[in-house]
Amino acid sequence: MLTFQHLSKTYGSGLLQNTALKDVSADISCGEMVALCGPSGSGKSTLLNLLGLLDTPTQGQIWLDQQPVPTDPAALAQLRCRAIGFIFQRYNLLPVLTALENVEYPLQLLGVAKSERRARAMALLEAVGVGQFAGQRPDQLSGGQQQRVAIARALVKAPPLVIADEPTANLDGVSAAQVIDLMQQLGRDANTTFLIASHDPRLYERCSRLLTLKDGVLVENQPQSLNPARR
Ligand code: ADP
Ligand code: ADP
Repeated sequence: MLTFQHLSKTYGSGLLQNTALKDVSADISCGEMVALCGPSGSGKSTLLNLLGLLDTPTQGQIWLDQQPVPTDPAALAQLRCRAIGFIFQRYNLLPVLTALENVEYPLQLLGVAKSERRARAMALLEAVGVGQFAGQRPDQLSGGQQQRVAIARALVKAPPLVIADEPTANLDGVSAAQVIDLMQQLGRDANTTFLIASHDPRLYERCSRLLTLKDGVLVENQPQSLNPARR
């Protein structure tokens, strides 16, 4: 579903050159929940930016659904808009919009008619357990509730791939566990692949695979398939 081969990323040039990612390859199946781990500065954000089609590699190739990812910026942006959902550490909801409007927004950008996008957004808010807060703005919600709204927003386009950057880092233990449960359950239901950068060991134990980066090198690519609790 998601394949990348020999990915390298070098920032800057000359004396300021910094190679953040070195010859990283992996093959991830449809519906997997993959944890990306490694110390700060090991290249996690860089890899997420490449696989989220927010940046292009210096070397290497990415395939999404067997198709090589284009290099042309306009084609890349179009594919990103259609195929990838994002979840961030700080939720990144639009503060002037209600929870429902935040979830509708990606569909609005895709030109989906109002009644349909409202129905789909509401169904997802219900699925993540915050339907009763549909009319509230983000500052009226707790961190855990905001992250649930952000999960609904990431999934509303039914993207094959969701990229999450430290989605539980700002949550208390209970909210973090609920958010992990939701990603696992909704991902499984819709056969969505999740790639999640995280320092959270509770998340690792739910994932189907651990990718570990160290100094830009992929030092571990470990399927967790022996444990039936993991998908
Ligand atoms: P992590 O997410 O694991 O903390 P990053 O991917 O953010 O790691 O960073 C990996 C390395 O690349 C670090 O040395 C960082 O300083 C460098 N780096 C990341 N982004 C940039 C950038 N836009 N310009 C220059 N260097 C960068
Ligand atoms: P985290 O470790 O939480 O992922 P970082 O501080 O490594 O956060 O990076 C946050 C953002 O800043 C990333 O998008 C990364 O690309 C960018 N960044 C990191 N290091 C540098 C750098 N040396 N120069 C420019 N941008 C950087």
